[in-house]
Parts: sequence; structure tokens; C-alpha cells
Amino acid sequence: MNIVIFGPPGAGKGTQSKFIVENFDLYQLSTGELLRKEIRDNTKLGQEISSIINTGNLVSDNIVGNLIENYLSNKKYEGRLIFDGYPRNLIQAKNLDFMLKKYGQKINIALKLSVNLETIKKRISDRKNLENRKDDNEEIAIKRFETYEDNIKPVINFYKDYNLLKVVNGEASVSEISAEISDIIKGIKGWL
Ligand code: AMP
Repeated sequence: MNIVIFGPPGAGKGTQSKFIVENFDLYQLSTGELLRKEIRDNTKLGQEISSIINTGNLVSDNIVGNLIENYLSNKKYEGRLIFDGYPRNLIQAKNLDFMLKKYGQKINIALKLSVNLETIKKRISDRKNLENRKDDNEEIAIKRFETYEDNIKPVINFYKDYNLLKVVNGEASVSEISAEISDIIKGIKGWL
């Protein structure tokens, strides 16, 4: 089973992906995490993307596409991935579709966590103290929220058309959201 999870910054994608990893034996593929690691390791790519990430804009579709393909081409992850933070626009959704077909795979569920901007601002300010991310301040959080909103509508429609979209109320508590996601996954035929 492959799952796409998307939602605005601070929606709880990372937290819920970890829950799914622990309970359903899948691997989390967070493009945000992979990109932050490049910056921490001060690689050539990290140097190229740090100002883009720190201002709340999207890194190029090619860069993230290559990161994703590294995982899709690896047998270890076959049919066991949670795409956390990818796709973020229609080009990426179509790229993912193309790559999945290339490697004989598919998406089984597209989970959308819905959260409003006020909740996002509060969660981002709480997270700032825990994770010390440069892009977790209110101004950049608003920018990231806007970037998300500007790009995600066609992605939502893309998965709706494939009948894969499941919308989860991201305003609920962490455990309530996890319970809902768990029910959705178990409701998919042949979820193991
Ligand atoms: P996240 O951890 O998912 O909130 O991502 C943090 C930042 O990484 C985003 O604001 C973007 O700058 C970059 N990023 C993560 N995923 C993608 C993606 N799929 N496409 C482009 N940029 C991304």
C-alpha cells in the first residue's frame, strides 16, 4: 500500500505519517525532511535550496522528483511508502503518477488533512520551540500556507478524479486524527 498525505504546514503530516509507519509497517518519505537534511549536511544541493526553503517557496519539481525516484526505484520500499509533502502541485502529481507506472506501483489512498490558518499559526509557533526550524515563524508560515493553497487545488481534484481522496479533519486531536486515518487504511481492501 502506498499513501499520499498532504495538508498545509503544521497540519500534522509528519506526526500522522509516523503513526502510520509504526502501525502499518510502511516507510515515511518526507521531501521536507530530505531537503532539510541536505541543508544540514551543507551539500551542494543544500546550499542551492536553503534560501528557497527559508522563504517558504517551493523547491524545483525536478529536484524533488529525483529524490522521490531514488525511493521508488528501490525494491525495499516497493508498495510501502507514505509520501509526506509530495506532490505539492499538479506537475508533481503527474510526475508521481508517471514514476509509479514506470515502477509498476500505484497510490492506494490520498489523505488530505484540513486545517485553518489560525490553527496553523498556533501549531507552528509551538513547533518552533521544539524543532528550531528556520521556516517556522509566523510570517514564513503564512507564506508557506499561501504557497500550499495556491498549488494544491488541482492536486486535490487529481486524486478526487481517481477516487482516492479521503479528507480528514486536521483540527481534531492527534489521537482522533490517527484513529480516523487508521479506520480509512483498514477500510481499503487488501491493506496489508
Ligand atoms: P515540509 O516539511 O513538508 O513543510 O516542507 C518544508 C519546505 O520544503 C517547503 O516549504 C518547501 O520549501 C520544501 N518542500 C518540501 N516538499 C516539497 C515539494 N514536494 N516540492 C517543492 N518543495 C518542497
